[in-house]
Amino acid sequence: MIRFNRPFMTGKELSYIEQAHGNGHLSGDGPFTRTCHEWFREQTGARTALLTHSCTAALEMAALLLRLEPGDEVILPSFTFVSTASAFALRGAVPVFVDVRTDTLNIDENLIEGAITPRTKAICVVHYAGVACEMDAIMAIAARHGLRVVEDAAQGIMSTYRGRPLGTIGDLGAFSFHETKNIISGEGGALLCRDDEFGEQAEIIREKGTNRSRFFRGQVDKYTWVDVGSSYLPGEITAAFLAAQIEEAADITRRRLAIWDEYHAWALQHELAGHLRRPIVPAHCTHNAHMYYLLLPSLEARTRFIEALKEDGVQAVFHYIPLHSSPAGRTFGRTGSDMTVTDDIAERLVRMPLWIGVEEHLPTIFAAADKALAG
Ligand SMILES: *Cc1c(COP(=O)(O)O)cnc(C)c1O
Repeated sequence: MIRFNRPFMTGKELSYIEQAHGNGHLSGDGPFTRTCHEWFREQTGARTALLTHSCTAALEMAALLLRLEPGDEVILPSFTFVSTASAFALRGAVPVFVDVRTDTLNIDENLIEGAITPRTKAICVVHYAGVACEMDAIMAIAARHGLRVVEDAAQGIMSTYRGRPLGTIGDLGAFSFHETKNIISGEGGALLCRDDEFGEQAEIIREKGTNRSRFFRGQVDKYTWVDVGSSYLPGEITAAFLAAQIEEAADITRRRLAIWDEYHAWALQHELAGHLRRPIVPAHCTHNAHMYYLLLPSLEARTRFIEALKEDGVQAVFHYIPLHSSPAGRTFGRTGSDMTVTDDIAERLVRMPLWIGVEEHLPTIFAAADKALAG
């Protein structure tokens, strides 16, 4: 079976883990964590970058930093992973789901203002497939209404919007290094704070609500409990693994893009024949080839396509069940717009295998897909 995903290893992970072992510093915020923090600050220009144990954790930190209270509302897409909504619901805030654009499948910025109420505190955007949302329009809406913007950039590492790295345009950005993402550490994530405003508070929330980070820098002479918080930092073994990955981030992105381009060239004939629609990347966005998806004409066509590929040894998969129709989404959230596009595309989208090493299997995948689409 040609699997949908295979984690890519750069080859240096084990030696860095061995170094971490040798350093005798296994808890968080050791030398490898610092290396990763510095890389993110340099790479993105964010004032503060903090590793977390997941993107979910980074989103939970964002919800804490925004001091959301029960009944506050956060506007977000429904076509996303659970954590985008759950992180805010955990604080008692109400996820207000808005429909997505037909081209990028990202939140439709034209529907956001219609969902704003006096309780709205923030907008949480998701850069689906590593392709940016329309951030200029979204930031302008946020400024007009005094709202914060959180970027769920779980899929967006190394992608840009008008030249700016994703995760640094809104107030706060969250990344994921789960093994299904481009840059991985098994489980892992990071929170980026665009400017200085949230940096110190983010360190406190991540360190159980203590000022331990300031203490380690010698800025206070003892550390103590100063706010609510939790334990959101990964250990050094995880950071060592991630350090090996980020060194190769540019190369990993290049290699994934080459595979994405091959899919895109292959799929053109089928798009012209009306069998499917290919992903759309706006000219002002660069992407990271996180995903190659196809939009088939109907749910039935998708079901048949996935089955046919499976029979030929290729694992293709669908994606999110829209959150607004999930049991928890109905309990904790509500819709802030019509959901026509979300309901439609969620039933027709299929993701193709995309991992470094799949290159040699592309002829098999294309042959299986050609056959499935002809049948
Ligand atoms: C993967 C993903 C997450 C969750 O990431 P974890 O690191 O597993 O917590 C959140 N949001 C989106 C959009 C994702 O793709």
